[in-house]
Amino acid sequence: MTTEGPLVLVVEDEPQMRRFIRASLTAQGLRVVEAASASEAGLAATSHNPELVLLDLGLPDEDGLVVVRRLREWCVAPIIVISARGREADKVEALDAGADDYLTKPFGVQELLARLRVALRHVERRGTNAPTVIEVGELKIDVTRRVVTRGEHELHLTPLEYRLLLLLAQNLGKVLTHRQILKEVWGPNRSGQTHYVRVYMAELRKKIEADPSRPRWLVTEPGVGYRLREEPPTR
Ligand code: CA
Repeated sequence: MTTEGPLVLVVEDEPQMRRFIRASLTAQGLRVVEAASASEAGLAATSHNPELVLLDLGLPDEDGLVVVRRLREWCVAPIIVISARGREADKVEALDAGADDYLTKPFGVQELLARLRVALRHVERRGTNAPTVIEVGELKIDVTRRVVTRGEHELHLTPLEYRLLLLLAQNLGKVLTHRQILKEVWGPNRSGQTHYVRVYMAELRKKIEADPSRPRWLVTEPGVGYRLREEPPTR
C-alpha cells in the first residue's frame, strides 16, 4: 500500500474480482483496502475511514444493501455498488438506500475508472460552494440567471424541465432513480408516477440532445433511472 492517493475500500467476496479491482485502482495511484464480507466491511470502514467504497451486493454473510444502510448512518464516502446483471430492483434499492452509483458485472477497467473519477470529483466539490455555471458538453447551465444554452443557442425550458435538468446537473455523472427524481422535482406525494419522469425526460432530450433518439448525455439506466453524463461515452 502506497501512502498517496485517495483510499478506496473494496468489498467483494470473489478473490479474482478483488485482485482485478486492486490492480486497476493501484495502477491509478489509488490506495486499496479489501474486505471479503459485510462484517469485514464494517470493521475496515471504521478503522480506515475510506474516501470511497466499492461494494458488491452479493456477500456471504449479509446482503450488500444492509452494508449500504449501515455505512450511510455515519460514513459520507461515496458508495459505488457492484452488482450482477438482471437485479435492477437491488440496484434501485441500493441507490435509494444511499449508494451513489452502481456498476453492472462484468465491467471494464475504463468504466470502473470513469465512475471512480466522478465519485471522487463529488468528494472534492463537497464543502466548496456549488458552481454557478454547470457545463456538460456544449450545454451550459447558468444557475444564477436560470439560463440554459446549447452552443450559441439559448434553450427555452419550462420551469419543470429546468428543475429536472438542474437536478441531473447537480448530480452530474451519477445515476438518479425514478423515485429520487420524482421526490426532488414533483414532491414526495408523487412517488408512484414514474411515467411523468419518462415524458419529461423525452421532452428534455429534444431540447438538449443533438439526436434525441440516440442520447449522448442524458442516458437511461434501464430499470433504474437516468444519468446526465459528465464525460462523453467511452464506447
Ligand atoms: Ca459476490
